[in-house]
Amino acid sequence: MSQPRAAADPRDPRCAEVAEQLAVAIDGVLPARLDAHIDACPLCTELLREATLLGDAIRDAADDYRHASDFEARVLAAIDPDGVEPTRRMRRPARGA
Ligand SMILES: [Zn+2]
Repeated sequence: MSQPRAAADPRDPRCAEVAEQLAVAIDGVLPARLDAHIDACPLCTELLREATLLGDAIRDAADDYRHASDFEARVLAAIDPDGVEPTRRMRRPARGA
């Protein structure tokens, strides 16, 4: 059984390289030789397309995110529940009398 050599050989080491550097690839700052490979490789083209779509979806979701209006107050309260300045809290109360 012999398969014709596909245009996109999944064993092409450049495919693995593209996959490893997918975040870089999405930003479009890949080395030229990998750029050229993506242009010629349907697998990598598809991989990059899906990754770009996913990245856009995440970015869109982040745009919609609004934290609760009391978020800052609650974070500050969690950090310093007593609302006391840390330097004062460090000071131990005098013992005895
Ligand atoms: Zn490829």
